[in-house]
Amino acid sequence: MSEAFDVDSLAERLRRVQERVAEAARSAGRDPQQLTTIVVTKFHPASMVRELSELEVRDFGENRAQEAAAKASETSDLPLRWHFIGQLQTNKAKLVRGFASAVHSIDRPALADALGGDDRELDCFVQLNLTDDPARGGVARTELEPLAEHVLGTRGLRLRGVMAVAPLGEEPRRAFARVREASDALRTIARDADQISAGMSGDFEDAIAEGATHLRLGTAITGKRPDHA
Ligand SMILES: *Cc1c(COP(=O)(O)O)cnc(C)c1O
Repeated sequence: MSEAFDVDSLAERLRRVQERVAEAARSAGRDPQQLTTIVVTKFHPASMVRELSELEVRDFGENRAQEAAAKASETSDLPLRWHFIGQLQTNKAKLVRGFASAVHSIDRPALADALGGDDRELDCFVQLNLTDDPARGGVARTELEPLAEHVLGTRGLRLRGVMAVAPLGEEPRRAFARVREASDALRTIARDADQISAGMSGDFEDAIAEGATHLRLGTAITGKRPDHA
């Protein structure tokens, strides 16, 4: 998979990943059309977003508020949806609210409060932490339903489902099975919150097998990220 990031074109990598996504969906008995591939362009310039837009990509993911806001503004002539997928400080919530269609990383009630209160609805995912390390982002499993209830009670937020990142040191498929269990539990309190944001370049096939609806794919499509501080 890491063969030839530099010799393959962006279009070629995109096409191959799309084929793998469709194939994984079919093997799981799912309709590939029901999956949303979000291309994560963090650390890449707006020109790459533009190039991907010409290849009909519409959903983009970013994890840093300022960088994302700048890129969204540079490409505001394009019909794109921006997904915020990183840890977010409450003082940047309004900035993100300004350009994002969805925030995947709601990890505490204060963040929901900071993002809410608007009449326009913002799609939200509550992030489940699959590790014991609070620094990894997301809430512990026992906090998931209380956080979901909080989002449900916040004006301007529309709870779409659960988001997670597979931890190192566990079979991704097993980790994603835990996400599916959490998703099932979430749906008992919010029937429409049936989406699962899971799966990155190295593990998306396992995520699809466990019901992921939103894949967040960076390097498999963009190639290696430029060095950053
Ligand atoms: C960077 C990032 C991704 C994409 O990771 P790749 O391994 O490059 O596909 C997905 N989700 C989150 C939360 C990220 O920060």
